[in-house]
Amino acid sequence: MHDIAIVGAGPAGLTAAIYGARGGKSVLLIEKLSYGGQIINTPEVDNYPGAKHTSGFELATDMYNQATELGAEMAFGEVSEIEKTKDEAGKPCFKITTKGLGGSEGKTFEAYSVILATGVESRPLGLPREENMVGAGISYCATCDGAFFRGKDVAVLGGGNTALEDAEYMAQLANKVYLVHRRDEFRGDEITVKRLASKENVEFVLDTVPVEIMGEPVVSGIKVKNVKTEEERILEVSAIFVAYGKVPDNGNFSNLTKLDGAGFFDSKEDCLTDTEGVFVAGDARAKLRRQLVTATADGAVAAMAAIEYLHGLE
Ligand code: NAP
Repeated sequence: MHDIAIVGAGPAGLTAAIYGARGGKSVLLIEKLSYGGQIINTPEVDNYPGAKHTSGFELATDMYNQATELGAEMAFGEVSEIEKTKDEAGKPCFKITTKGLGGSEGKTFEAYSVILATGVESRPLGLPREENMVGAGISYCATCDGAFFRGKDVAVLGGGNTALEDAEYMAQLANKVYLVHRRDEFRGDEITVKRLASKENVEFVLDTVPVEIMGEPVVSGIKVKNVKTEEERILEVSAIFVAYGKVPDNGNFSNLTKLDGAGFFDSKEDCLTDTEGVFVAGDARAKLRRQLVTATADGAVAAMAAIEYLHGLE
């Protein structure tokens, strides 16, 4: 039995672990992949106060080491169910079940409080054959897979900061980068757009949406359509990097706390939920700004709320 079980070891979950452990509580972090969440693939984090020019991996590793050195324990597995129950003395607690990884047995954990810091996952393109072509030219992470396409032509899809950064990263490796966006204006920062516009091997393909993934068994191109002229064109590329933003995957926890229309945890800045003893933190929570610093802020708020709740149970 732990005092606090934290689902998700991204920046929000790791911060909650640091605050929980420093608050004298026993903390268990449960993670389905590896610690660090989305920042693990960010080559350079330069907007986190006090951590100038660090990589996402370094920053996440520092957070992880800080949490575990303070006593937080780590378990791996995908949480499939959390059930509210009671301990032998009749105190309310939670039974947390994981699916297990790579065919291994699932496990059951118990805790007096739960912090859901489940993050978000990549929004898919939504085209036929997309799932089958992951690893065969479709990727959601340019920094993870970009090196496989050194010297090739590639497409980056999306207009946010991730797409812009992916295009910039790939421009260093690839022969040519098509940056395909559905509008004629980018959502991401103007400063990066300007840098990209000056690169000879980057072509902006604006007002354009993808309509078909070409190639079998590996990607050989993408058919795109201009939404204003309806003109279609095939971009001959070996890789398609999708940067359409992130979506939550909170369905397993809808018995514990309300989700909003888009599937995010419907909770305010206090990180409380409609189930006593359950708190939420980070990008999986309904919020205006999803940034590293807002995720870690949530982690602290949720852990302090959990500590207060635990004191009330004593
Ligand atoms: P995002 O800002 O939500 O951008 C998603 C992009 O995908 C948008 O341009 C959107 O087009 C496009 N899109 C979404 N669904 C689409 C569809 N079905 N068809 C065509 N296009 C579609 O996501 P993000 O770029 O991953 O960034 C997420 C957050 O992290 C943002 O707050 C961002 O600033 C931040 N971030 C910061 C940094 C940094 O500071 N270094 C780096 C990366 C990300 P529309 O624009 O038309 O909606």
